[in-house]
Amino acid sequence: MRYEKDIVFYISNTIVEKIGTCIKLVSPNEASGFILGNIQEVNNDNGNFSYNYHSTSFHCIESSIGSTISFILDNDQKILELSEHLMKNENLKLIAILHSHPAGTTPSSTDKNNMKYYHNSGLKKFTHLIWIIVDSRNKEMNGFIYLNNKLTQIKLIISSNEYLR
Ligand SMILES: [Zn+2]
Repeated sequence: MRYEKDIVFYISNTIVEKIGTCIKLVSPNEASGFILGNIQEVNNDNGNFSYNYHSTSFHCIESSIGSTISFILDNDQKILELSEHLMKNENLKLIAILHSHPAGTTPSSTDKNNMKYYHNSGLKKFTHLIWIIVDSRNKEMNGFIYLNNKLTQIKLIISSNEYLR
């Protein structure tokens, strides 16, 4: 898989804790949620750009549907409504959609199809969306983005300090 070191996603300890709580809450179903925050574009000396994603809040999705994953996959309209509501209240961007796997953090073929679908949906807010997959057992996580029509892994950094806006 391609790896893009110029896209860095910072996730704070507080959010990692909230994700853990979300996984417990929806168990035995798999968890899913939104991460809101800001994207900072950095112009490097060599003329290249790098992108820093700063996460400021996590919203656990409590779905009545058995599988939260199918909730995400079948409800792009619902995602838009929910994220718009959250953004209005917090004045932040939807920067990532997170879901858990029972084991491992590798995107499934369904995940890949959905990333591609959202990326090519023509909706601007999905173009730079990061997909985070968490292993339910050990809470390990990895981030992915659809970039130039290729599935790409990004750099995920868990930081102890909150990002100050
Ligand atoms: Zn998945």
